Amino acid sequence: MAIAVTMLMLPIVSIGQTRIVMPKNKYSVQDDVKLGNDAARQVERQFPLINDADAAAYLERVGQRLVSAIPSQFQQPAFSYRFRWVNASDLNAFALPGGPMFVNRGMIEAAHDEGEIAGVMAHELSHVLLRHGTAQATKATKYEIGAVAGQVLGAIVGGAAGSLIAQGSNFGISTYFMKFSREYESQADILGVQLMARAGYNPQSMANMFQTLAQQGGSGPEWLSDHPNPGNREQRMLQEARLLNATGNPFGNTPEFQRAQARLKGMSPAPTAQQIQQQNQRRQPTGTTGRAVNVDPPSGSYRTYQPSNGIRVSVPSNWGQVQSAGNSVTYAPQGAYFTGNGGGSAFTHGVEVGVAQGTGDLERDTNSLLRNFAQSNPDLQQSGRPRNESVAGRAGITVDLANVSEVTGQPEYISLSTTELRNSGLLYVIGVAPRTETGTYQDAFRRIRQNIQVSDR
Ligand SMILES: [Zn+2]
Repeated sequence: MAIAVTMLMLPIVSIGQTRIVMPKNKYSVQDDVKLGNDAARQVERQFPLINDADAAAYLERVGQRLVSAIPSQFQQPAFSYRFRWVNASDLNAFALPGGPMFVNRGMIEAAHDEGEIAGVMAHELSHVLLRHGTAQATKATKYEIGAVAGQVLGAIVGGAAGSLIAQGSNFGISTYFMKFSREYESQADILGVQLMARAGYNPQSMANMFQTLAQQGGSGPEWLSDHPNPGNREQRMLQEARLLNATGNPFGNTPEFQRAQARLKGMSPAPTAQQIQQQNQRRQPTGTTGRAVNVDPPSGSYRTYQPSNGIRVSVPSNWGQVQSAGNSVTYAPQGAYFTGNGGGSAFTHGVEVGVAQGTGDLERDTNSLLRNFAQSNPDLQQSGRPRNESVAGRAGITVDLANVSEVTGQPEYISLSTTELRNSGLLYVIGVAPRTETGTYQDAFRRIRQNIQVSDR
């Protein structure tokens, strides 16, 4: 009889929670931390955050309650979990690798109880714990981290935030964003429910909030396009909740929630993400159009940099590395690089070297890169026919372009050169100089693009 009882007990013990396996990841935990910190700094520059001690303390409390529920196998001592309100009315939230999380004010204004806010945060936190951003990058490309960092950024920040960040760079690659795969979404939903249950929340709240998100607008809010429904989302969450015996947990409609919601609702209305984006564009990059720029001509001697493993770039020795934004790096002489309040930047003389996602078709990839640049540089015009010219010792394309400098308001000369990498990434080199100094800089740009060394075999 005793044996029979044990056997009866077995299924109950073994059902338990769904086991989640960390996806393959070739990046280190430290890479996650660094990427997330870099991205968080950009977000903090480009998004209006709410600096209200009470509202902040409430969000921190909900966040830390979830953090303290992280199962031991997913704990990352190097991560630093922090939570900020964004003063935006849209229903959105995003988390960056290594822990920084941003929750739109619109989220709590739409929520019915604390569990609904916690549900979205539990899902976001799960992406962080499972290191989905860098796992996605692991699958996406075999290239070096310097080259994919920008893509990781885009992947995690996604949508509105991603494009804002990309616009911060003069020639940011804004069209290529990875959305989380349905497989990762499903993992984040399930681990999210497990965190909810362990933190004492009712996962039904999480399912309710996801339903609210799905009902917003025709194509759904930004959040849903970054976190696609893996199928039967709410049902799957509730199924997991039942496995965990968590369906009786409280929903969290507490006085603290009511107070925090009332406090945020009482503030003057928040702008939409679109309004924030327009505002950022208006103040980018420097707000100093018409500035006079005085720069020494390029030195005849060259100095070699290694912006990421596998790439070596030689530039005139009186230029320095002025910017490094994940997938690109800029070299410019002193006095030629400008940053603005909005986090934007521009340079009047120098080169930007970067890697964009490609398809393996050089001509097609070069054209889509051109279209991409044209979006963020409305005055950009092609001024000559593309010519076949070697770049980094392999077949390449160079196009001359005319633009108007955002810094000086004067015409500028731009040369765009591209070549394919072995993983079908597109290596690009953009030379920029005032049109009146074209002759002085053309030789330097040619020498730079021809002498780049890439080892991507
Ligand atoms: Zn997600």
